[in-house]
Amino acid sequence: MNEITLSPLPYADNAMEPTISSRTVSFHYGKHHAGYVNTLKGLVAGTKYEGLSLGEIVVASRAAGDTAVFNNAAQAWNHDFYWNSLAPEGKGGEPSFALKAAVDAAFGSLDACRAALADAAVKRFGSGWAWLVAKDGKLSVESTANADTPFGTAGVKPLLVVDVWEHAYYLDWQNQRAAYTKAVVEKHLDWSAASRRFGNV
Ligand code: MN
Repeated sequence: MNEITLSPLPYADNAMEPTISSRTVSFHYGKHHAGYVNTLKGLVAGTKYEGLSLGEIVVASRAAGDTAVFNNAAQAWNHDFYWNSLAPEGKGGEPSFALKAAVDAAFGSLDACRAALADAAVKRFGSGWAWLVAKDGKLSVESTANADTPFGTAGVKPLLVVDVWEHAYYLDWQNQRAAYTKAVVEKHLDWSAASRRFGNV
């Protein structure tokens, strides 16, 4: 029996300062992310989703068109993935040889890959997410609206994500989504984690 739980943050709540303050984390993780998890627990209790893993609920609720379950499950999954896409400045490592080769093939350089991710984040209208994904070994950047997620879609492996909901940056950056995104992609992406996800490390 799986239980839906709020995963612990993989670092201290001030680990991304000043890009992401502990105050932002206290609301973003402690209220928003926790809220999705708690709402999901209530929604799945006594339903066909009870006992499934979070990832299984994302896939099954998408297929069934159960919007409320999907939105909360996908947001719980996306936030877990977001916290595990970030690393303190200087601790994110470098892409593995295999990932770097794929980055160069798709974007030309790591800087161009970062720029593409930042561009997708800035251009996402309203709330959503900007992703670096691998599709059959080939990398691309995409963005999704609201809770939507590339997780669980055919052939797609998410590697990194940037949360561009206003709750991710408004306390620290107010309306400056581009400045938040630039700081995240330049200083805080966990390339070691992305390399493990990509494989062939
Ligand atoms: Mn968020």
